[in-house]
Amino acid sequence: MKKLIFATGNENKMKEIRMILGDLDYDIFSMKEAGIDVDIVEDGTTFEENAAIKATTISKIANCVVLADDSGLEVDYMDKQPGIMSARWMGEDTSYRIKNAKIIENLEGVPDEQRTARFVCAIAAAFPDGRVVTKRGTIEGIIGYEERGENGFGYDPIFFLPEYGKTTAELSPEEKNKISHRGRALEMIKEELL
Ligand code: IMP
Repeated sequence: MKKLIFATGNENKMKEIRMILGDLDYDIFSMKEAGIDVDIVEDGTTFEENAAIKATTISKIANCVVLADDSGLEVDYMDKQPGIMSARWMGEDTSYRIKNAKIIENLEGVPDEQRTARFVCAIAAAFPDGRVVTKRGTIEGIIGYEERGENGFGYDPIFFLPEYGKTTAELSPEEKNKISHRGRALEMIKEELL
């Protein structure tokens, strides 16, 4: 079996990755499992650049295939903010209750047609020979009028999917993984690993 590292410290992401890539001919490790602990400055200007920076930095250290992701929420009415700043927007330590309330406030009085938004996830695969491939997955929705749902994390309680009549925080993890930006990007990157 070949070795693959997913550059994240997030256990939920690792679970999802193992579910989607589990049938490949790779042993999958988190950064911690691989014994790698580096601070990477994500100074790219796109999701793809940031994912590629993380994947190539680790790949040089580990000398195996490394996957890394970068994701966020684009709100069209806010000129696609918070975008690549999603985690850091309004300050890294500010709670999502406050961040979500701010987005709802920014969109006060704005009709459904202009409340469009999407979660974006770019995944980069860096190979030991120096090759880097990036893929982007998205899921389209609209910004809700209040927080709804207890599942998920971050902006999920205000990300409403009209065709499901639910926010992504009201979907089960399995339901969300099937249609999510990250799930879609992972399926595409899987093709590259086959
Ligand atoms: P990262 O790619 O793990 O750094 O995540 C970036 C940020 O985007 C997260 O901290 C969340 O604020 C937001 N985000 C990304 N994916 C999701 C999601 O599936 N639900 C809710 N928020 C998300």
